[in-house]
Amino acid sequence: MIKPDGVQRNLVGEIIARFEKKGYKLAALKMARPERSHLEEHYADLSGKGFFAGLIDYMASGPVVCMVWTGVNVVLEGRKMLGATKPSESAMGTIRGDFCVEVGRNVCHGSDSTDSAEHEIKLWFPEGVCEWDACTNAWIYEK
Ligand code: UDP
Ligand code: MG
Repeated sequence: MIKPDGVQRNLVGEIIARFEKKGYKLAALKMARPERSHLEEHYADLSGKGFFAGLIDYMASGPVVCMVWTGVNVVLEGRKMLGATKPSESAMGTIRGDFCVEVGRNVCHGSDSTDSAEHEIKLWFPEGVCEWDACTNAWIYEK
């Protein structure tokens, strides 16, 4: 997901391009202005944290762009592409390392496990995602 700061800072195209160029396949994409209750459900595991209220304010401050990307090891590798939670700990070359400064304005979200990805896909795309065959498949995967 591209968070409200990523949208406001015109990073939507840049972030999508990184996942496309890596070789992952887009399965769903939409812009949304979620209710606070939806964001609270999305971040339910962090509800006890001191930064929770600020996080929900931040996430509710503007539209977000939600995406589902598919591919081999996409959850693990996608998190590497995002960088560490704190931009100051993110390697240069990662999205957070290259485009942000503070943890509370870290421009993107990525599921942290396949289980949480499945849960988040259901939460954000209850209508389902798009199944399609990419003609580039044989140029990205050996088999
Ligand atoms: N966050 C924050 N302060 C913190 C830790 C996290 O504002 O000390 C925010 C930050 O935007 C982060 C989000 O809460 O991306 C979710 O935290 P999580 O630990 O799940 O990090 P992520 O999975 O996004 O790397
Ligand atoms: Mg997380």
